[in-house]
Amino acid sequence: MRKILVVGAGQSGLQLALGLQSRGYEVTLMSNRTADEVRSGRVMSTQCMFHTALQHERDLGLNFWEDQAPRIEGLGVSVAAPDGARAVDWLGRLDGFAQSVDQRVKMAGWMEVFTQRGGQLVVHGAAVSDLDYFARTYDLVLVSAGKGELVSLFERDAARSPYREPQRALAVSYVHGLGPRPEHPDTEAVRCNLVPGVGELFVMPTLTVGGRADILFWEGLPGGPLDVFRGVTDPSEHLALTLELMERYTPWEYARATKVELTDAGSTLAGRYAPTVRNPVGRLPGGGLVLGVADVVVANDPITGQGSNSASKCAASYLDSITAHGDAPFDEAWMRAAFDRYWDTARHVTKWTNAMLGVPPEHVLNLIGAAGQLPPVADRFANGFNDPGDFEDFFYEPDKAAAYLASVAPAN
Ligand SMILES: Cc1cc2nc3c(=O)[nH]c(=O)nc-3n(C[C@H](O)[C@H](O)[C@H](O)COP(=O)(O)OP(=O)(O)OC[C@H]3O[C@@H](n4cnc5c(N)ncnc54)[C@H](O)[C@@H]3O)c2cc1C
Repeated sequence: MRKILVVGAGQSGLQLALGLQSRGYEVTLMSNRTADEVRSGRVMSTQCMFHTALQHERDLGLNFWEDQAPRIEGLGVSVAAPDGARAVDWLGRLDGFAQSVDQRVKMAGWMEVFTQRGGQLVVHGAAVSDLDYFARTYDLVLVSAGKGELVSLFERDAARSPYREPQRALAVSYVHGLGPRPEHPDTEAVRCNLVPGVGELFVMPTLTVGGRADILFWEGLPGGPLDVFRGVTDPSEHLALTLELMERYTPWEYARATKVELTDAGSTLAGRYAPTVRNPVGRLPGGGLVLGVADVVVANDPITGQGSNSASKCAASYLDSITAHGDAPFDEAWMRAAFDRYWDTARHVTKWTNAMLGVPPEHVLNLIGAAGQLPPVADRFANGFNDPGDFEDFFYEPDKAAAYLASVAPAN
């Protein structure tokens, strides 16, 4: 039986570990925290996942929270006008529903299932020296440790990483008591509120440790008026700041948030990181090789809500590459081929996400504006969150955007 070590028990590591386990591999999973520590700890993400990524979980029978988590049927975009009104406001319909299950719930649950099914869970923060040893005793070592220190094993790919610095300051609050958006009170939706020159507010339903909740997530341009959460350690102060900024920049969202309260003591998160693509193969001091997974090798800014989706897609792609390889050695050529196969999907996510971090060009503003009058444009934009490859055909180039708009505009 082939022995595989998975280092890091997040979306990608757990999905891979459970997938490999179900295919008969002998899997060891290293996690720097126990399931209970994860469950009672701080939130880590907003983790909204769209149809394709959710389907990978269903394919492995890991969709344990599907019936409890809100079904997100739409994705809306609002753009703030200088006077505090909305210059743009629409809702696109998703072909397949999306869901956000608090990673504290999912990762803790999946860790328990992994051990119940006979998997070996080692609770230990792996160091490079540990990997050096394990690379000799396992057939394959996968590093799925997110944006932690082990990324230093994987060289930055400058050609694929246009940014060296974080492009947004992130501030998340999980709350109870948010009212519905009055325009579509019966539709669960992710709401993307764009405040030009300032940042973005994302609002979305989730399933958290205490049941259904909503997430308020500010992404602020560094040094701008939303970049005020650094050093705020008191969760109630974090929420008060979040609401103050909502009242000022997105009053329509603030109007339904006046009665909110935090879901629990770990319900806030602030931070920032530079979007980075890395060389997928890490070389250990002793000469052994390890393969990077998901955020370790392709970490995008969460502005497009893609990281967990990509982690799921990476895990599914690597699972196929591993099983297809049979008993052959997991050498460097195989590792590079496995990553290239994943990159074929991930490159679209990176291109789109990096584009969304910049100042939108006129043709993109036209598209976003036109979606308010043309529901097919709104729907296509919303479904691009599930399949960012589709943006190639209508989003990046002014000619393609114009041709697409002409094709959906009603004939006069
Ligand atoms: C504020 C915010 C909002 C987001 N919103 C969304 C969203 O709406 N939709 C979406 O799809 N994505 C979103 N993301 C991104 C998403 O959360 C990540 O991209 C995704 O979790 C990455 O999965 P992963 O498996 O690569 O890593 P992670 O989920 O980060 O898991 C890595 C695990 O490895 C562990 N670890 C680290 N170092 C070690 C070590 N040395 N030894 C052992 N274990 C270790 C960590 O503790 C962690 O448990 C968001 C991210 C942030 C920060």
